[in-house]
Amino acid sequence: GAKAAGRNTLRFFDPAMQAAVTARASLEADLRKGLQQGQFVLHYQPQIDDSGTISGTEALVRWQHPSLGLVAPTTFIPLAEETGLILPLGQWVLETACRQLATWAAVPGRAHLSVSVNVSVRQFRQPDFVAQVLAVLERTGAAPGRLQLELTESLLLDDVEEVIAKMEALRARGVSFALDDFGTGYSSLSYLRRLPLDQLKIDKSFVTDIIGNANDAVISQTIVALAHSLGLAVIAEGVETTEQRQFLALQGCRSYQGFLLSAPLALADLEALLDQPAGAA
Ligand code: C2E
Ligand code: MG
Ligand code: MG
Ligand code: MG
Repeated sequence: GAKAAGRNTLRFFDPAMQAAVTARASLEADLRKGLQQGQFVLHYQPQIDDSGTISGTEALVRWQHPSLGLVAPTTFIPLAEETGLILPLGQWVLETACRQLATWAAVPGRAHLSVSVNVSVRQFRQPDFVAQVLAVLERTGAAPGRLQLELTESLLLDDVEEVIAKMEALRARGVSFALDDFGTGYSSLSYLRRLPLDQLKIDKSFVTDIIGNANDAVISQTIVALAHSLGLAVIAEGVETTEQRQFLALQGCRSYQGFLLSAPLALADLEALLDQPAGAA
């Protein structure tokens, strides 16, 4: 009614909202420029596998903003998704990660490393997503078997047949798949069973209070059991303490990633960590 319209009109001139709109527009313009000017960089967070060695890394994008400094992805990924800029950004991340894989393949002590790349729903939804990934693998010479793509449960809101077909096309070439932030989304167990996955990643929100919160402990226990019964690997993210790692190990999850081992690192720092004698880390 008139009252609602009045409220809307008022809202339009709300200075705080106006400021937010301006900030968003300028962030979007910066994002566009940042892509053109190569202001993005990948950091790599090492992952420990079941055997207790660093078997892989997760590639995590950061934005080296000219005035804001190093910006975390939680600040700009949502906006990149809204504006569609996630498509060129995601392409850049994939290409950069695959070039790194190809470089490591030629270096003793690094050739075994895998790289996990986060793929947003909007990126995966593109009709030619499979062809794009295969073209990047071809161009960079990266071994598909060392590339893991991280998907989120929100993907399951899409046409599941189509999701499965894309995953299978890439898996046939050796690419593997993890379901990221598992437990926070809307997975239906019957869909989950049908997805050609390799790994579940226990979300860090359950790991944080795994010692003190009985609910979180039960959830992580359930995810580990679910992964095992589906024949999937399982890894915990956000492991910060020895107690959390030991608790997870008792539940049957021995692969982990988190500050206990290392924060995400710039390439040179990751390589320095890899060069340390085992056990020094
Ligand atoms: P994610 O994929 O679940 O990544 C894990 C996040 O947890 C990372 O935050 C990582 O730095 C952080 N983390 C790792 N270990 C610990 C720990 O022990 N304690 C705590 N408190 N945090 C830890 P980051 O790097 O800020 O990334 C946040 C999210 O941004 C990612 O969550 C992912 O969803 C998204 N993201 C990052 N890079 C990309 C990308 O290239 N493409 C897309 N589509 N999304 C990305
Ligand atoms: Mg991830
Ligand atoms: Mg995650
Ligand atoms: Mg997460």
